[in-house]
Amino acid sequence: MTAPDAKAPLFSARGLSKVYVMGEVEVPALREVDLDVAESEHIVLLGPSGSGKSTLLHMLGGMDHPSTGTLAFRGRDLTHLDDRALTLFRRDHVGFVFQFYNLVPSLTALENVEMAAEIAAEPIDPAEVLELVGLADRADHFPAQLSGGEQQRVAIARAVVKAPDVLLCDEPTGALDASTGILVLEVLQHVNETLGTALIL
Ligand code: ADP
Repeated sequence: MTAPDAKAPLFSARGLSKVYVMGEVEVPALREVDLDVAESEHIVLLGPSGSGKSTLLHMLGGMDHPSTGTLAFRGRDLTHLDDRALTLFRRDHVGFVFQFYNLVPSLTALENVEMAAEIAAEPIDPAEVLELVGLADRADHFPAQLSGGEQQRVAIARAVVKAPDVLLCDEPTGALDASTGILVLEVLQHVNETLGTALIL
């Protein structure tokens, strides 16, 4: 990677396109997207199913390469990184929160968060992060002993513990009822305001 540019936005995409090729069929998933995301910005992507929201999150998170266009993180080009460099980019800068929580069932809430902290360069104290998501009193509970909203808050803590620069959240409330979903969004907003983590939902 080239050196970071202090004045560059967190993300900058120009003409970003993605075409999935399935045999002889080409599925255009993203077409010519221009987007700048500032440090600590909070962005909500809205659009019908199939409009390319997940695809855009995958590109921003370094999970896939765009077909054409440019994408930079703090001025550093992401589009030409090989898989290893993209893995390091994800590890060091990006936290992911998905619709399903994917917690390890045999580990407590705290242990699920600690596991993520172990592979981070400069993690936050896992107990502090559980407190940030309002689960300090559930640290020793296993996922099966937690509600869906609580499990999602553990998943958020797991994503946040490595102090990422951005949290990418793909339908984080998709499996929750409306009032629990609002609570989870409030937790994400609290993370954004407390730690300055950019948030793209
Ligand atoms: P959204 O998140 O807005 O529902 P997606 O980004 O998941 O939209 O999908 C955008 C389009 O790309 C859809 O037509 C979808 O079927 C297609 N698509 C997404 N992922 C793949 C893939 N891995 N292979 C082929 N087509 C895909």
